[in-house]
Amino acid sequence: MIKLIFLGPPGSGKGTQAAIVSERVNAAHISTGEILRSAVTQQTPLGQDAQKFMDKGELVPDHLVLGLVREKLQNLDGYAGWILDGFPRNELQAQLLDDLLREIHQASDCAINLEVPDEILIARLLKRGRKDDSEEVVRTRLEVYREQTAPLIDFYRSRQHLISVNGHVAIDQVTHQIQQVIEQKRP
Ligand code: AMP
Repeated sequence: MIKLIFLGPPGSGKGTQAAIVSERVNAAHISTGEILRSAVTQQTPLGQDAQKFMDKGELVPDHLVLGLVREKLQNLDGYAGWILDGFPRNELQAQLLDDLLREIHQASDCAINLEVPDEILIARLLKRGRKDDSEEVVRTRLEVYREQTAPLIDFYRSRQHLISVNGHVAIDQVTHQIQQVIEQKRP
């Protein structure tokens, strides 16, 4: 059972890597951004609440997102583990995740931080063309990342729970580095 937290700024390739790696190790890929985007498309009550924050590039309120993660972690549907992609996003979420994992008698193996230089992130995001990838929203998302999410690097590092991976190389090389981390973590 492999249980990983993927950290990294928007555009770092976290989503791409989480999708590839989760399939290889049969882990549930839990992307809060994907779940929220699909709720917005379907205009569920959650989607209607979340949309205005997402359109601006701001974080959706913590309790809404925590509910999604709780539901996924409690119903693993035959998956042998999980990869959290885009959660936690601030220190409160990291604490709420700790509480949740304790409650369900699980623990993450480590937090993997994908490192990519800023100028590369902006170029990648503007090329991607998602609805929240316009220049102004990209700027807000990077700011939100720096102010609220980046402190989690120290949060996990101080617990010796952080492993950094170079995200500024070819996709398969990034995957290879992550697989090496997984090999080390496997009993
Ligand atoms: P992402 O696909 O991870 O870049 O997420 C896209 C958007 O969804 C973010 O800009 C936020 O508005 C929202 N979002 C995703 N994950 C979270 C989270 N853990 N907490 C709050 N908002 C989130």
